[in-house]
Amino acid sequence: MDIQELRQQVLDICKKLPLFGLVTGTAGNVSARDQDTGLVAIKPSGVPYESMVPEDIVVLRLDGSIVECRGGLKSSFETPTHLEIYRRYEQIGGIIHTHAKYVNTIGCVFDEIPCGTTPTGVRLLKQNVPVIDFINNGTQEMADRVAPVLADHVAVEIRNHGPFTIGETVQLALERAVALEDTSEIFFQASLLGTPSLIGETAT
Ligand SMILES: [Zn+2]
Repeated sequence: MDIQELRQQVLDICKKLPLFGLVTGTAGNVSARDQDTGLVAIKPSGVPYESMVPEDIVVLRLDGSIVECRGGLKSSFETPTHLEIYRRYEQIGGIIHTHAKYVNTIGCVFDEIPCGTTPTGVRLLKQNVPVIDFINNGTQEMADRVAPVLADHVAVEIRNHGPFTIGETVQLALERAVALEDTSEIFFQASLLGTPSLIGETAT
């Protein structure tokens, strides 16, 4: 895949985050890795989703060195966490971080987000999503605490902040980000009415 294709892939997913209600303003971030070259394309910091163009997407090597970055822009604030995940897990091709409201709502109260409100939640998330304590944004500490959890989970919620989802492709990471918000919303609403029924983590 050439660099322009990789950038376009990230841009296309970036544009969907506000449409799915997963972010507001310039919050959240998306990255994708090209498995042939090992290069990572990531959302820039502080650029509104509506006006973002392919040339705004920053291209990096796994060590954080810049391959292409339009003048005046910086890569996403959460770049250290994205790169740490790619360095640890070679099969991962895409990562998404959002500030999804219902995920944050459940994460403020519970230690895991139930995936079993629907079969789609179980199929995409595979198991309940762990919630880890708040960590200051954009730090290596965040990278060091988030990445290990993803050894045996496809998503993790940072309490009072938001979730990271991963996938072999960035499209799959998006589907998981949406499924996580959906199961959180259903769980929240069901909890208002009674005790939510949940299907097994192994259901498909
Ligand atoms: Zn964030």
